[in-house]
Amino acid sequence: MISLQPLTNPKPSLLYVHPFSPKPRTKFKPISIHSLLQYNRKPQLAGETPRVVVITSGKGGVGKTTTTANIGLSLARLGFSVVAIDADVGLRNLDLLLGLENRVNYTVVEVLNGDCRLDQALVRDKRWSNFELLCISKPRSKLPLGFGGKALIWLVEALKAREEGVPDFIIIDCPAGIDAGFITAITPANEAVLVTTPDITSLRDADRVTGLLECDGIRDIKMIVNRVRTDMIKGEDMMSVLDVQEMLGLPLLGVIPEDTEVIRSTNRGYPLVLNKPPALAGLAFEQAAWRLVEQDSMKAVMVEEEPKKRGFFSFFGG
Ligand code: ADP
Ligand code: MG
Repeated sequence: MISLQPLTNPKPSLLYVHPFSPKPRTKFKPISIHSLLQYNRKPQLAGETPRVVVITSGKGGVGKTTTTANIGLSLARLGFSVVAIDADVGLRNLDLLLGLENRVNYTVVEVLNGDCRLDQALVRDKRWSNFELLCISKPRSKLPLGFGGKALIWLVEALKAREEGVPDFIIIDCPAGIDAGFITAITPANEAVLVTTPDITSLRDADRVTGLLECDGIRDIKMIVNRVRTDMIKGEDMMSVLDVQEMLGLPLLGVIPEDTEVIRSTNRGYPLVLNKPPALAGLAFEQAAWRLVEQDSMKAVMVEEEPKKRGFFSFFGG
């Protein structure tokens, strides 16, 4: 059984596990699952609402849409009102991951054309009514000339002015790359979640994107390291989370293990965090959502093999 253990006293010289330069490992005291998940209280919402958060990466296929769906629904389950904007115009798929593809009748393009009202384009989730999806355009349709960051700023202002009140979170699923679609998606955001996998191509793109976000005035950038495989880290075939943290120098919002349940849930249109019993990646997304709410971060993470077989929750050291 694997175990994901937060470190209390991270010392890079001891914890750095580079694929080509094995370093000694230290043992860490497991902590209780309750102190991590804190199910016995509601998280304290930090910062001003709406919190406009862009989920970005640079490289495609690293888990932005998966993160948007799972963190978004976790926030809704915690009682916060959430609007998720699918700004990945060319390869829109957030609706599929949420199982809402048949309910998208109108998009932002129709709202801007005056063909429908904003509330007609907002698709309420089937399970959590405080979660709404907003798509920028229909699949394969072209954006109107001049559609850009200003349109998204207008959209955020319009969401603030709704009768229902200001949403707690506006989460923007960003397209891959660093061209016009990326610039449009990050324009209204005041914080960013950078999703990366522990491989060199993803890290290079993530580093470039970090620079661009900072240039755009987004200073609150946290990272999620996705598709982490303990067996590969142990075999020194994959960078450890500490390597990633050292390379990017960003606060850590969460570490998501590689989990076949993610692919299963993607294909079912049923986000992982809703699974009962929860999958490991689902629990990790839930913890990341907690940290996002409280503007908190993890200090450092070590993924290690447990000495002997234990229960399911031993993943979290419980
Ligand atoms: P992006 O939006 O960055 O292009 P997606 O969220 O669409 O990436 O994910 C790309 C693929 O990777 C999907 O098939 C998804 O199911 C898979 N995936 C994402 N995260 C994980 C994970 N932690 N474990 C296993 N598969 C994953
Ligand atoms: Mg995507």
